[in-house]
Amino acid sequence: MLLERDSLGQGQTINSQGIIHSGIKYAFSETFTPKDQLALKDTSKLWENIERQIHIGVRTRSCLLWPYAENTINTTIAALAATSLRSPVSRRLIPPHLKQAPAVYQIQEPVITPYEFIHSLYCLHYDNLIHCPFINFLSPTEIELPRTGIIKSQITILAAGRGNQDLRDAMGLPGGIKMQLRPLHMVVARGDLPELYGHCISRKGVETTITTTGDPSGRTIWQIGGRIAEVGANRSKQDQIKEAVKLLFLITHGIDVKKLEFSTYKVNRAEVQTRLLKKPTSFSYIRNDNVITAWPTKLALVPALAETIIKTLPPPQNLGDPVNHEERPAVAQPIWETWTQEWTTTN
Ligand SMILES: Cc1cc2nc3c(=O)[nH]c(=O)nc-3n(C[C@H](O)[C@H](O)[C@H](O)COP(=O)(O)OP(=O)(O)OC[C@H]3O[C@@H](n4cnc5c(N)ncnc54)[C@H](O)[C@@H]3O)c2cc1C
Repeated sequence: MLLERDSLGQGQTINSQGIIHSGIKYAFSETFTPKDQLALKDTSKLWENIERQIHIGVRTRSCLLWPYAENTINTTIAALAATSLRSPVSRRLIPPHLKQAPAVYQIQEPVITPYEFIHSLYCLHYDNLIHCPFINFLSPTEIELPRTGIIKSQITILAAGRGNQDLRDAMGLPGGIKMQLRPLHMVVARGDLPELYGHCISRKGVETTITTTGDPSGRTIWQIGGRIAEVGANRSKQDQIKEAVKLLFLITHGIDVKKLEFSTYKVNRAEVQTRLLKKPTSFSYIRNDNVITAWPTKLALVPALAETIIKTLPPPQNLGDPVNHEERPAVAQPIWETWTQEWTTTN
């Protein structure tokens, strides 16, 4: 049974870029450790298994990767040489909007539509979903539902993103385990845009990651993240849009930014705390008796985390009747689909 406070995937998952990372982008990070790539090594097989069972809304099977400028080519080639995941794109096949790039590579990173992935899980598990704005824990494995009464579980798994800390505190679990929030200030652009999925590499790391999605009116949306979203976490919306426009001008070709509408959103990544607030190298989970607290760290790592946790659990026993009288949660909407006024142009 899954208890949801708001709507499913609200927070990080629904607003994420949906890249099933191969780990390649970490090869360009100043803080890269081989463990980063190791954690992501087998994710693609697990996702292929999931795709055989449910619709996950694959938007593309591969991403592009291109250096920001001539002086980044050597760094890019050296880092790519350490992996077997890339192939150079023949000049003839380079999309027109990357014509200025000194080189373009293709990497095996599918991009999914988070909404469609969550929606498939929602349909599959509908009877076990409960909308519960406030969870009344009588003990870590006993809750009281408004219409059904008391429900007991063998195990409670906290997988509430940034909500995990509050839930742990509410249950009175031992302190000492802390969560970290790493902020992002994402930019979204809407208008006459080509489909683009990929990472632009500079000497400082992944300068930006651009992914393409659509809205219900059929408009194309670019989600612009990467380094710009990290270093711009404290910028105002206007300043962040200005930076994004400058960047698009430098790293793409023939995109008329004056015809685009822009906006931004701020969102925190919630992870287990690490020294110096660095990105954890993999997923994390902590067990306190019958309570597990889990942070996947990456959407790409969700199946690996789930599989690891399931292996530690005893087979389910005494499954009760389905809970039929409680409200069901909805699937969250991407934040830009809920906006009415937030879009601006750069004219
Ligand atoms: C902008 C952005 C882009 C990203 N892009 C990528 C990417 O391209 N590839 C990738 O692999 N990773 C990406 N990530 C990371 C990835 O999105 C997260 O690691 C992952 O989605 C976290 O999932 P989660 O279920 O732990 O948390 P969340 O997605 O935040 O979900 C938490 C859920 O718990 C619910 N909840 C919260 N509090 C409570 C409570 N008290 N009681 C009950 N329910 C509660 C919420 O409503 C929500 O449904 C990105 C993250 C961000 C922010």
